[in-house]
Amino acid sequence: MMRVLHEKLTKGEISARELTQKYLDAINMQDSDLHAFLYVNVEGALEQAEKADAIIKRGEATLITGIPFAVKDNFCVQGMPTTAGSQILENYIPPYTATAVQRLLDQGAVLLGKTNMDEFAMGASTEQSAFGPTKNVHDTTRVPGGSSGGSATAVAAGESVFALGTDTGGSIRQPAGFSGVVGLKVSYGRVSRYGVIALASSVDVIGPITNTVDDAAIVFEAMAGRDPYDSTTSPHPVPKASSIQTMNLKGITVGIPQEYFETEGIEEAVKVSVEAAIEALKNFGARIQSVRLPHTAYAIPTYYIIIPSEASSNLARYDGIRFGYSAKAARDISEVYNMSRSQGFGVEPRRRVLLGTFVLSEGYHDAYYKQAQKVRTLIRMDFEKAFRKVDALITPTSPNVAFPLHTKDQDPLAMYLQDVFTAPANLAGICALSIPVKNLKGTLPVGMQIMGPAYAEEKILRIASTYECVRAKYRKG
Ligand code: GLN
Repeated sequence: MMRVLHEKLTKGEISARELTQKYLDAINMQDSDLHAFLYVNVEGALEQAEKADAIIKRGEATLITGIPFAVKDNFCVQGMPTTAGSQILENYIPPYTATAVQRLLDQGAVLLGKTNMDEFAMGASTEQSAFGPTKNVHDTTRVPGGSSGGSATAVAAGESVFALGTDTGGSIRQPAGFSGVVGLKVSYGRVSRYGVIALASSVDVIGPITNTVDDAAIVFEAMAGRDPYDSTTSPHPVPKASSIQTMNLKGITVGIPQEYFETEGIEEAVKVSVEAAIEALKNFGARIQSVRLPHTAYAIPTYYIIIPSEASSNLARYDGIRFGYSAKAARDISEVYNMSRSQGFGVEPRRRVLLGTFVLSEGYHDAYYKQAQKVRTLIRMDFEKAFRKVDALITPTSPNVAFPLHTKDQDPLAMYLQDVFTAPANLAGICALSIPVKNLKGTLPVGMQIMGPAYAEEKILRIASTYECVRAKYRKG
């Protein structure tokens, strides 16, 4: 999609300003119902679009120049409200811009605004936003997934060409799957997190949500690489988007982890649709092999010890003094801390702070936190062993399709189980993406997850791109 827009922009068939206006109009028409956006950058976007038009006129445009995009509301953008979906940051305006966003702006991309999310990226439905839920564009009585649900809906509804999200346990892939779009969770350390509000620092990554695999590769290439402001970024060479378009998977072996397909509660539609998509890949030369990831069942309990531990530490900075909301009636400093935090945080951040501080406390640390770290190593080793035999692993992205609004938001365990297929990749630091497959038993989107070793984005994008071509042909036929 972005290549087509780029051609139109450079041929002068449409200006960046007109393109931006088109997307602002779509937001204006639809978003009061869908609620994908928390902030729309109307004037700023039009100004940026004019600058993009000047770059295009000078013949210096890249594939990103003049393309309207949106970012999840946990990316800091200088001068623009950044709430992370929380009351505690309601009036926070950052003095600097996240590196990933800056790299896109530097190439002349046009920022349409900030998208809705579960508070501090904790959740899988976007219902846990302090500012109300986002809806699924395929069925507005259902959730778009989360926590990057605003970004997924923005792209799926044609309110943005692409959007950025963050993924700590599935927050890019699951909403992409629920919304029928592509979501790429990059390898840990691939893209700078400087200026992104942290949930769990040993796990968090950011990535694009797009309409096509090619768009994901283009945005990925534009953002990735070493950043002196984020010491966890790697100097690994970044693959070129142009190198991933291929229809031949000869020599590629895809592993199918049996544990995922045998998971309790997996919906039939999800299972058969992903199995059919795997069958289709065979016709393009891929070899399919069954594999085992024996520690899969421990991923959720492990994840929900490690993430709250890190979250409780990361959220300590929201104390009513340094950022955002400060309780008015407080009599002294300790009351400022206590009241600001208990009034400013919603239920889920409070739950995780309690859980996290409990599992880190003396007497429980070894039984929970240390044990979870050991299991995390076993999960990582499962993947390492599998990747000695296969190039990539294919699974459903989630055990179910998008569920109706307000069916899981009072039940934290049910919500946590949404991450059963996505969280393992985060614990292992590997790369993974979600791509829509044809739903053989219904109309709601089904996501297929392709996981690859750390820094093997090129490989998983290639497999995804091939499947996308297969599906496009299928659609026409
Ligand atoms: N649902 C997961 C959680 O609540 C994943 C969130 C994420 O990836 N940011 O932690």
